[in-house]
Amino acid sequence: MKYVDEYRDPAKVRGLLGEIDEQVTRPWVLMEICGGQTHAFLHHGLDEMLPGGIELVHGPGCPVCVTPLEQIDKALAIATRPDVIFTSYGDMLRVPGSTMDLFNIRANGGDVRVVYSPLEAIRIAETSPEKQVVFFAIGFETTAPPNAMAVLQAKQRGIKNLSVLVSHVCVPPAMEAILSSKTNRVQAFLAAGHVCAVMGYHEYPAITEKYKVPIVVTGFEPVDLLVGVLAAVRQLEAGKAEVQNAYERAVTFEGNQTAQNVMNTVFQPVDRKWRGIGMIPQSGLGLRPEFEAFDAEKRFSVGELVTQESPLCIAGEILQGIKKPPQCAAYGNQCTPQSPLGAPMVSAEGTCAAYYRYHRELVPNG
Ligand code: SF4
Repeated sequence: MKYVDEYRDPAKVRGLLGEIDEQVTRPWVLMEICGGQTHAFLHHGLDEMLPGGIELVHGPGCPVCVTPLEQIDKALAIATRPDVIFTSYGDMLRVPGSTMDLFNIRANGGDVRVVYSPLEAIRIAETSPEKQVVFFAIGFETTAPPNAMAVLQAKQRGIKNLSVLVSHVCVPPAMEAILSSKTNRVQAFLAAGHVCAVMGYHEYPAITEKYKVPIVVTGFEPVDLLVGVLAAVRQLEAGKAEVQNAYERAVTFEGNQTAQNVMNTVFQPVDRKWRGIGMIPQSGLGLRPEFEAFDAEKRFSVGELVTQESPLCIAGEILQGIKKPPQCAAYGNQCTPQSPLGAPMVSAEGTCAAYYRYHRELVPNG
């Protein structure tokens, strides 16, 4: 298959591993931002094939994992209302809130529906005028444009019974929060190729300049991932800290201007709490005032909720690259994909789920 097979070529993978091995003269800690990249590294066993000096730590780029508990509890409070049809991407249904999840609401008679696009929520709103339809708008800069487009369309069509519970987050402020932390271990980033396909990488030179860490825009296939690692290691070994694009077939410096325009028309930067990490200033997106009629939090007056995380869950440390899932006492016993205590064990992009699925009992290279 064109654009896939050539990026999974075993000979190229072996060659790249050899090149990385030749470059490495001392230990380095690299963080892949995206949960999809984490799963790809583990799925293909690349984390175990890298030279011992390269340690991969796994970033906060799993949208389900970083959606704060308060937003999950607000979703649960709204979804229990008899006048509401609550729509969401499927991953969110199993994410535990303080006391239950959206599946529990559905099992107890709530109208909670999985959708694959926010446009489905619009269709449901149009065909169910007697109901309030709510869409759970979560994710990074990848899902923000289609969700913004849905709000725009709802406004243009005069749909009054649709609202969105917004919990969007942005990558660059999270990278800065990690680099600013006293416990930071990250020496180079592999930036998420799909986020950069939307946003470009014009936001990153300021970060490399300020923190002196290389940032390499990286794709998702084995060859892409290793090209990203090689570029990062070359920079580290040479004492450089630059932005490099190792995913040129999908990413440009400016990114997708149309998608960015739609996103910026509907959303504006806001302070946002990240699950397990805490408040990161200007790290989220919220509805602009001219779209606040579509704000589910205002429509249903959910207000501030008191939340309760599992005291066993160390997701915050995992999402910042400080610890790895096998270092969590609950990993694989009290916390499994069948019975998750924290969001990183739920999501298809979650680090804990990846370690469990691919049987990483020990810390690779650690
Ligand atoms: S294994 Fe479970 S409890 Fe431990 S950090 Fe991961 S999600 Fe949280």
